[in-house]
Amino acid sequence: MNKKTDLKPRLLIVSGPSGVGKGTLLKRVLSESGLPLKMSVSATTRNARPNEKNGIHYHFLTQEQFQEKKNAGEFIECFEVFGRGVWYGTLKADVNAGLDEGNFVVLEIDVKGANEIKKQFPDAITIFVKPPNVEILKERLQGRGTESDEAMKNRLNTAIEELNHAEEFQHCIINDNLDKAVEQFIKIIKENL
Ligand code: ADP
Ligand code: 5GP
Repeated sequence: MNKKTDLKPRLLIVSGPSGVGKGTLLKRVLSESGLPLKMSVSATTRNARPNEKNGIHYHFLTQEQFQEKKNAGEFIECFEVFGRGVWYGTLKADVNAGLDEGNFVVLEIDVKGANEIKKQFPDAITIFVKPPNVEILKERLQGRGTESDEAMKNRLNTAIEELNHAEEFQHCIINDNLDKAVEQFIKIIKENL
C-alpha cells in the first residue's frame, strides 16, 4: 500500500506507435499528476540518441549482455520491436523495486509486450495513445529527426500494424492537442487507481 495515497501499487501500461508522443506526454503527466508514478527503465540494444542517458532513458546493452539477461530470466517480457535485431525488454528487478516503493510503475512498451504484461499483471491499467492521423504521425517522427530513412520505414510499418490493436486497451487517447491529451491522461489514471 502507498503510505501517501492508500492506493495499491499497480502497473500502468502505455502503448502506441513510435512518434505518437508517448514520451512527451508521459513527461508532463509525471510532473503534473501529483501521483506517485514511476517510469520503468527498459533495457534495449539500440544505440542511445544524443540526449539519452544510460540508466535513465534505457539501460543500453550490447546484444550479448541482453541475451545473457534474457537467458537468466531477468525480463518480464522482451521483444524484437521493429525486427532487424533491435531488442527491448522490461526488467523484473526494476518493476518490482518500483512497486515495493509504493509507486504506480509506468511501462512505455509496444503492443506485443503489453499483451504479455497483461497476462502476468491482470490488474494493470492499459492506455493506447493514437495520432490524429498517419500523416501527422509521419511528420512527428520526421520532425524528431532521430531515425534514418530505413528505420523510419520500419517504424511507420510497425505503427500502422499497431494501430489495429488500439481496441485491445482499456483506454484510448488521441494525442492531438498536447494540453488536452495530458488532461485526459491524468483524468483516466485518477478515475481508475
Ligand atoms: P514517442 O515517445 O511516442 O516515440 P515522442 O514523445 O518522442 O514520441 O514525440 C515525437 C515527436 O512529436 C516529438 O518531436 C514531440 O515533440 C512531438 N509531439 C508530441 N506530442 C505532440 C503534440 N500533441 N503535438 C505536436 N507535436 C507533438
Ligand atoms: P524508442 O526506440 O523510440 O525509444 O522505442 C521504440 C518502441 O519500443 C516504443 O514503441 C516503445 O513503446 C517500445 N519499447 C520500449 N521499451 C520496451 C520494452 O521494455 N518492451 C517492449 N516490448 N517494448 C518496448
